[in-house]
Amino acid sequence: MSARHIALAGAGIGGLTAALALAKAGFAVTLLERAPVLEEAGAGVQLAANATRVLKTLGVYERVAAKAVFPDAFAVLDGRRGTRLSGGAMGAAAEARFGGPFLVIHRADLQAALLDAVREVPAITLRLGHALESFAAVDGGVALTVRHDGGGDTLHADALVGADGLRSVVRGALHPQATPSFRHRAAWRATVPAHALPARLADPVTRLWLGPGAHLVTYPVKAGRAINLVAVTPDARQAHGWSEAGTREELLAHYRGWCADARLLLEAPERWLRWALFDLDPLPRWGDGPVTLLGDAAHAMPPFLAQGAAQAIEDAAVLAGELAGAGDIPAALRRYEAARLPRTTRVQRAARGMDRIYHLGGPTRLARDLVMRAQPESAVLERYRWIYDWRA
Ligand SMILES: Cc1cc2nc3c(=O)[nH]c(=O)nc-3n(C[C@H](O)[C@H](O)[C@H](O)COP(=O)(O)OP(=O)(O)OC[C@H]3O[C@@H](n4cnc5c(N)ncnc54)[C@H](O)[C@@H]3O)c2cc1C
Repeated sequence: MSARHIALAGAGIGGLTAALALAKAGFAVTLLERAPVLEEAGAGVQLAANATRVLKTLGVYERVAAKAVFPDAFAVLDGRRGTRLSGGAMGAAAEARFGGPFLVIHRADLQAALLDAVREVPAITLRLGHALESFAAVDGGVALTVRHDGGGDTLHADALVGADGLRSVVRGALHPQATPSFRHRAAWRATVPAHALPARLADPVTRLWLGPGAHLVTYPVKAGRAINLVAVTPDARQAHGWSEAGTREELLAHYRGWCADARLLLEAPERWLRWALFDLDPLPRWGDGPVTLLGDAAHAMPPFLAQGAAQAIEDAAVLAGELAGAGDIPAALRRYEAARLPRTTRVQRAARGMDRIYHLGGPTRLARDLVMRAQPESAVLERYRWIYDWRA
């Protein structure tokens, strides 16, 4: 009997991981990607233990680890005074506590590791420059209309997984009312060569600098040769995508009165890319019949817990686990959704909640800082055990 066939729309971190997981579960996979070339914007991503454990089970972890940095520690700092609010050990200590490594990696390196693995699996057909246009449930599966340079095609599959990101075509058809919600913030991203910074700011430490209305995250990527910066500021512009450049002067205006180290970091990059932050309200349900959603298409969230990609990776593991050996594919997709929805809803809500906590000003900020300073180091990551300790 020939393998059952799953079509995946979108070859982001979610789609690539799901293709590997589904092929491992015995499915033939067609991975459709609208972009003619896969190239991630020049920035980093943090992957916590809940995600790295999945990458291990998929056999792709070693490739990812080869390009990753494993921070020794994390620190939360007062962006204005430069003083430490909290922090703790990471590295082997966090790995032992949460049963998996915590790493930071350049997005292009993560994507290349996943893509190389995908290209080695004969059961996966990757079609770049192929955009899913529409779909319809048909007897025994789903018919897809796909647009590409040479025209259009119809493709038949047993199931369709929409891993097509925030502006998902699949979600748009299933839930036309569920439009992305603008958070009135921009994430500015840049990388700086490590040698251009003082050693105290280019060490293997993840730093989160908090200030009224804005924050800054820094960590090393590219085997420590570069430092990744993410600066989050208020912003009213809704243009979507990484091609939105922003000037250093405009960015720095949001960090007036910040400490010398934070300013030094923010002044270092030649060029910043600006990304308007959108997320989704948690959906009451994801799929229908032979169709479901995965990753940002299902549960886009603000980046304040660094969990968007990690949740897409978790989705991939659960989806493949439910479909493996399933006789009734739509029923397996509903089990996948039932397993994932409460968790991704909780993570989405927690990520939104961090927006307020990170950006407090005035007396509430002082109260937050007192609480942060008072808590023992071991308690900081422990608050997020429910996120990091997840198992498929
Ligand atoms: C500033 C910032 C920092 C972040 N930091 C972290 C972090 O540290 N850790 C973390 O876990 N997450 C982080 N995230 C979140 C993370 O980047 C996303 O959650 C994750 O990349 C989503 O992956 P995805 O595969 O679901 O979607 P996407 O990456 O959006 O991929 C969707 C893919 O689908 C393709 N596509 C779209 N439409 C179609 C179509 N019709 N047909 C075919 N293909 C289509 C697109 O071209 C794209 O390649 C961050 C996000 C931001 C904005």
